[in-house]
Amino acid sequence: MAATLLTSEDVNWNLERLAFNILVDQQPAGIAVPRSADEVSDVVRSAAADGKRIAAQRTGHNAAPLGSLANTVLLRTAGLGGAEIDAEARTARVGAGALWDDVVPRASELGLAALHGSSPNVGIAGYTLGGGLSFYARKHGLACNSVTAIELVTAGGDQVRVDAQNEPDLFWALRGGGGSFGVVTAFEFDLLPLPEIFAGALFFPADEPSSILHGWQEWIGGVPEEMTSVWRLMNFPPVPEVPEPFRGRSFTVIEAIYCGDPAEGEELVAPLRELGNVGMDSMAVQAPAGIENLHMDPPEPVPYRADGMMIGELPAAAMDSLMEAIGPGSGSQLLFIELRHCGGAVSRAPQNAGALATLPGSFSAFGVGFVPVPEAMAPTRAWLGSFKAALEPYHAGNYLNLVEEPFDIARIFQPEVLDRLREVKQRYDPENIFHSNHPVTA
Ligand SMILES: Cc1cc2nc3c(=O)[nH]c(=O)nc-3n(C[C@H](O)[C@H](O)[C@H](O)COP(=O)(O)OP(=O)(O)OC[C@H]3O[C@@H](n4cnc5c(N)ncnc54)[C@H](O)[C@@H]3O)c2cc1C
Repeated sequence: MAATLLTSEDVNWNLERLAFNILVDQQPAGIAVPRSADEVSDVVRSAAADGKRIAAQRTGHNAAPLGSLANTVLLRTAGLGGAEIDAEARTARVGAGALWDDVVPRASELGLAALHGSSPNVGIAGYTLGGGLSFYARKHGLACNSVTAIELVTAGGDQVRVDAQNEPDLFWALRGGGGSFGVVTAFEFDLLPLPEIFAGALFFPADEPSSILHGWQEWIGGVPEEMTSVWRLMNFPPVPEVPEPFRGRSFTVIEAIYCGDPAEGEELVAPLRELGNVGMDSMAVQAPAGIENLHMDPPEPVPYRADGMMIGELPAAAMDSLMEAIGPGSGSQLLFIELRHCGGAVSRAPQNAGALATLPGSFSAFGVGFVPVPEAMAPTRAWLGSFKAALEPYHAGNYLNLVEEPFDIARIFQPEVLDRLREVKQRYDPENIFHSNHPVTA
């Protein structure tokens, strides 16, 4: 069989070139939809022979930084699906087309959890190649460092299996260095034994986000690494896709996930429930699959603009300037701004880590604005600008998976890590055939 190859004349062209962010207008030279590693090899060899680049993509959740695809074949990986779980060994093997939703519910039924992200619809491949910040990361570190083996197609079209013993430099680069080194066709990674967690969200009225933020900041100072939480200020748009209780309304939200003893988790969140008038409270003991949609990320492509950064500390002055810039009275209609508590194992390099061993700072700050019409772009940019300006004094770095624009990777990786990534690129893809969203170039 040969991979399906599409040109702009094909009826599926617009569907296959669609990114998760509808505002990203991908116009590649061609689109390939392979269904096997052999078909990927053929696509790579024929693109290379034609002098074209290859951009592997599953969901297009981080497509914006790719830039022009005029001389690039977009290789959509949805046909490389499949997920197998070995309950005894506590491992998963997935095709590069698998989404987190292909693993999380099935693992959960077996009393296991994966280091998945906030959306069940994110691709395991892009998420893991870029690091992978899960709600269990403060205890268990980045998802890329739980990977045990990767299969990929190289620039020559060869299929290789890399792990700690075989092609160790390539294995190192793929764990957090991104998609610049080949087309991944399968991953194997460890799962956590975790039959139950204590998790959920508290919804407070939106008019007093500052006191909730101050209370949350004080509370996180005393929680163990098993606890991850997120403070959010949310403005749900008045569109039919948003469920009724939220549609057109604003809330301050705290999400909390505890991966230790669930009863302990319930005790730990008690002070959060005292922070104010809790309108809705979904916190409960549940199986790990229960948090797949906790973060309420949209399942379908949407038009939006996002920005963020890692921040080091969150003193009272930071919270106050954040509230002044983007809180009630600022006029902000951003879909949400959030601060996700990091630190813990995210700040400690594990033994034998890949290229991304840790994330800087103690919080991931992220904001998203809905841009349903072109006129919404200017105010959205302005609000995101205010959000970032308020936190700029506390800027500790960036996390590439949450950077949705072209970005200089020299600002992410330490010089010795960047040098090693470039050496690996030079060795495995000296002609820069593979184009990734945050490229490492030879
Ligand atoms: C709604 C939403 C929620 C998110 N939540 C989180 C979160 O909780 N934690 C977190 O860490 N991140 C999160 N992210 C960021 C997410 O991890 C990145 O957007 C990631 O790149 C998505 O991977 P993807 O494969 O779905 O995206 P794609 O855009 O399809 O791929 C992104 C890049 O990955 C590489 N890639 C993908 N597949 C392959 C392959 N088979 N071979 C080689 N390279 C490949 C390519 O370089 C590609 O450009 C979220 C993003 C969104 C939009």
